[in-house]
Amino acid sequence: MGLLSKGSPLNWEETKKYADHVRKHGIVQFLNIYNKVKERQKDVLLWGDEVEYMLIEMDEKNGKVRLVLNGGEVLETLQDKGEKTNPNHPTLWRPEYGSYMIEGTPGQPYGGTMSEFNTVEDNMGKRRREASSVLNKNETLATITSFPRLGCPGFTQPEYKPTPVEKGVSKSLFFPDEAINQHPRFSTLTRNIRHRRGEKVVINVPIFKDKCTPSPFVEKFPEDDGEAARAALPDHIYMDAMGFGMGNCCLQVTFQACSIEEARYLYDQLATFCPIMMALSAASPFYRGYVSDIDCRWGVISASVDDRTGEERGLEPLKTNKFRILKSRYDSIDSYLSSCGDRYNDIDLTIDEEINKQLLDAGIDKLLAQHIAHLFIRDPLSLFEENIYLDDENESDHFENLQSTNWQTMRFKPPPPNSDIGWRVEFRPMEVQLTDFENSAFVVFIVLLTRVILSYKLDFLIPLSKVDENMKVAQKRNAVQEGMFYFRKDIYKGERIRVRFHSSSAAQNGLDSEGDNEYTLMSIDTIINGKEGIFQGLIPILNCYLENMEVDVDTRCTILNYLKLIKRRASGELMTMAKWMREFVDKHPQYKQDSVITDRINYDLLRKCDSITKGEERCPELIGDPVNRGK
Ligand code: GLU
Ligand code: MG
Repeated sequence: MGLLSKGSPLNWEETKKYADHVRKHGIVQFLNIYNKVKERQKDVLLWGDEVEYMLIEMDEKNGKVRLVLNGGEVLETLQDKGEKTNPNHPTLWRPEYGSYMIEGTPGQPYGGTMSEFNTVEDNMGKRRREASSVLNKNETLATITSFPRLGCPGFTQPEYKPTPVEKGVSKSLFFPDEAINQHPRFSTLTRNIRHRRGEKVVINVPIFKDKCTPSPFVEKFPEDDGEAARAALPDHIYMDAMGFGMGNCCLQVTFQACSIEEARYLYDQLATFCPIMMALSAASPFYRGYVSDIDCRWGVISASVDDRTGEERGLEPLKTNKFRILKSRYDSIDSYLSSCGDRYNDIDLTIDEEINKQLLDAGIDKLLAQHIAHLFIRDPLSLFEENIYLDDENESDHFENLQSTNWQTMRFKPPPPNSDIGWRVEFRPMEVQLTDFENSAFVVFIVLLTRVILSYKLDFLIPLSKVDENMKVAQKRNAVQEGMFYFRKDIYKGERIRVRFHSSSAAQNGLDSEGDNEYTLMSIDTIINGKEGIFQGLIPILNCYLENMEVDVDTRCTILNYLKLIKRRASGELMTMAKWMREFVDKHPQYKQDSVITDRINYDLLRKCDSITKGEERCPELIGDPVNRGK
């Protein structure tokens, strides 16, 4: 979740005093990097995935499953045995927000050759085995996006009570501070977000109204001092802590591009796929012990780190704050970065004018300047006393401070100072899947897509406001089958249109030369598998690319298996994990059609998940029957 500094974290009042200092030096640090590496060309295509894991304990005797809060020790052991002993160790382990979470990546990035696609699943397998080998008996490594009973009484091992009234960082009615990673960065972020906002964060997720769910669904919170009563909406599952969001897991992919231009092009193109891939990977239907009416974590995390004040959210006139801010720090991107993207930038973009000017004066172009000036409307959320005064030539912590707490669907990443890393983009919307096979399929699909976009110079851009509409649809229950998404019809047409309509009104409206819209509403099935007369489909395009590539037989077989999974998820032939989990709960003998996930249901569900993950049990309705699974 970002860089860790050592030392003494400042509280919000003190951090605030340094906000302008951090921004000012952050920009200088960015400019120093930019000027050193803007011309860099021919970096090679490298990429890597990140998988976030939860540590869970299966208590068979009591029929309970709990999150184990020993991520810190597990991480230390893994690092000691791994990267600290051997710099070429095949896995890397990093901390995550929950003290029950860890994050694993390949030790070295993957390269540009096709055969690398055949090593992803092996590496994920290594990670899983490695981490599993240091766990205690009855503990297991879960790749589930949201823990169904997160925040329910006794959900952690050891058990801790939340401390809503005492001094604490979350002050949550449900989520104890002990479930937050012990590194001060995480508690500081939690407390400073709450202090900056002026109240606890508010997360309301619509409840799934089953036959016996009370209507209206209204909960009472005995320990509430009035804040929950004001914030909780009827017919919603109410949550009040950063942990309900950042305590979820995801699957991310980072790409190194050949040059800054290519990185900006990829950033824009991939942004249009964020809602589509999120819907396809949907895996989080349950929150705080209830069945919800959404399938994805996105909005929950967004609300869980929303540090905006009432003024910034437009609830009160601006007095002490500078900007009206339309979105949380964790949200979809607000502007395209490549020159082809400019004409589709149709979202109100709040920028810090002074910073924008500073960047323009330093020779940064309009699109990149406004991107950075937008990220920099935020305040730094955590600052360490020892890290205030830095060497701007050789350090980038102040830039990274703001960059790494703008958690958007895509991240544009300048190289770290004095490194041979190139310009990178990170694809961040996907939810994590049960098996290494599925996770590899999603990763390989998106990497192949970048290859095709670059090789055929494809153009998937649509107005960014339409991508935002897609983000809303993507999170809804069963969006893969029921949602309709704006998508570009002719993806080979970009160049021609750009020449003909620089900034004419037709272009502004997204009209093509015939006056038709460039985009239309499509189902995920149409987008992925194609539909005669509407869109040719991403899988057919990838297949065509693969036919023209030299690929060894084994790798080709692996890739085709992955594409088949994506294809069948999109067509509805296979379920998404969210749908599969819903069906499991619905059929559970203890489920009373009241939207409640009891301890027993949770245990049985996660037991089942675990045996599918470990390959002890097949699950054809979710995964199909890939021929070379478990190789
Ligand atoms: N766990 C977060 C998510 O599910 C991402 C945290 C990170 O940026 O690593 O989106
Ligand atoms: Mg992470």
